Amino acid sequence: MQQPAPSTSLPERARRVIPGGVNSGQRNVPGLTDLVISRAQGASFWDSDGRQYTDYHAAFGPPLLGHNDPDVAGAVAEAGRKLDLCGVGVTEGEIELAETLVELIPSMERVLLTSTGSEATFHALRVARAVTGRRLVVKFQGCYHGWHDSVSLNVISAPERVGGKDPISTGILPEVLDATLVLRFNDPDGVRAAFAEHGADIAAVIVEPVPHNVGCLLPEQEFLQTLRDECTAHGSVLVFDEVITGIRHGLAGWQGVSGVVPDLTTMGKAIANGYPVGALGGRADLMDQFSSRPGAPVFFAGTYNGHPAVVAAALATLRKLRAEPVHEHVFRLGERVRAELPGVLAPLGVPAVVTGYGSVFVTYFMDELPRTYEDLLANDTGMFVGYRRRMVDQGIFELPLNLKRSHLSYAHTDADVDRLLEATERAVREQLAAGDAVADLSGASTMGGAR
Ligand code: PMP
Repeated sequence: MQQPAPSTSLPERARRVIPGGVNSGQRNVPGLTDLVISRAQGASFWDSDGRQYTDYHAAFGPPLLGHNDPDVAGAVAEAGRKLDLCGVGVTEGEIELAETLVELIPSMERVLLTSTGSEATFHALRVARAVTGRRLVVKFQGCYHGWHDSVSLNVISAPERVGGKDPISTGILPEVLDATLVLRFNDPDGVRAAFAEHGADIAAVIVEPVPHNVGCLLPEQEFLQTLRDECTAHGSVLVFDEVITGIRHGLAGWQGVSGVVPDLTTMGKAIANGYPVGALGGRADLMDQFSSRPGAPVFFAGTYNGHPAVVAAALATLRKLRAEPVHEHVFRLGERVRAELPGVLAPLGVPAVVTGYGSVFVTYFMDELPRTYEDLLANDTGMFVGYRRRMVDQGIFELPLNLKRSHLSYAHTDADVDRLLEATERAVREQLAAGDAVADLSGASTMGGAR
């Protein structure tokens, strides 16, 4: 074992023992490879040089209450004093959390806890295949559902690859990807055509009801309703992947907003304000297939499922979301950003639209709001990453990776939004003046990435 020399920097030490120096492919951000985080509180995090950043990246979405919320942290500490993982039976907290989710989420009659969103989507597809005895899974361009093989097609296939195979990773058996169809988002005709051709072999349709892994594409009602109707007509399982939209956009998730109720729902991120909790819930007849029930055929397990600390975090988060005007606050700030940012950018003469929902916002440098991922692809300029790098220089952290959304939390204030508007104006102006909107971004356009 090699000990680092005392003078070795933290990023150098990280790169020696961690591939690339970070613990997730999406933390490998060009220009930020030396970032070491040393503290997080409320709407901010700090790097190891003591620089403060107002955080709109929000770890890809979990801390809806803000970082290190005192009520959540207190509940976790309390759970630690009293309980520990025992890996047998059930705790009162797990029961209460399941009861709460069943009460909140329209599609949930039963629910199982996982540690991550990827596990939840994995098990959703497995049970769908088990119950239907069918092979195919349908997913949509622009949507991400985790790292496991069936959904490991590039979030963002180029248009000519829709329906084709574009793996996000090597090491996946081609026959697994052959069983996944990729369709266009917001294209009900495409959905009807796929069902007409393959309906008898479609086990599941999985969709982010709002594809936030490419920023924000707002779903058209007819599209979501078509998914529901086609799945019902063909006996396929409709899975809403609400890992981002659930809780953040409303306590009943996007199914509460749209009124379209799926068969299964996957959740994660904002449920526990940053503690690792995922959930899979839905129709009782589907959920009762899991082997948590004696004699049931679909294997389901996880050493850390329902860990008392994360369950306490989830309960404290949901309690606070119900008791305090959290959604009202973050929606109001989100509306401010979406309403005021276009006016700030218009005088600069750069095409820009600001979209999003509730606490989520994203600026695209294009003339019209996008409907599909192809709209975004046609406007892939360097401005998105370029201005965000300049924002980071000003202490405002919107992730400088292409098409990443930004998030507001209960801890953000109107003064933060004021500063965000000013900083965005300055960053876009500087980026335009530098004339390198497209250049100097080699490696920075991560069209295939997600989280
Ligand atoms: N589904 C969606 C919609 C996601 O955005 C993510 C992660 N960003 C996942 C699933 C996977 O969740 P996790 O990273 O917790 O495995």
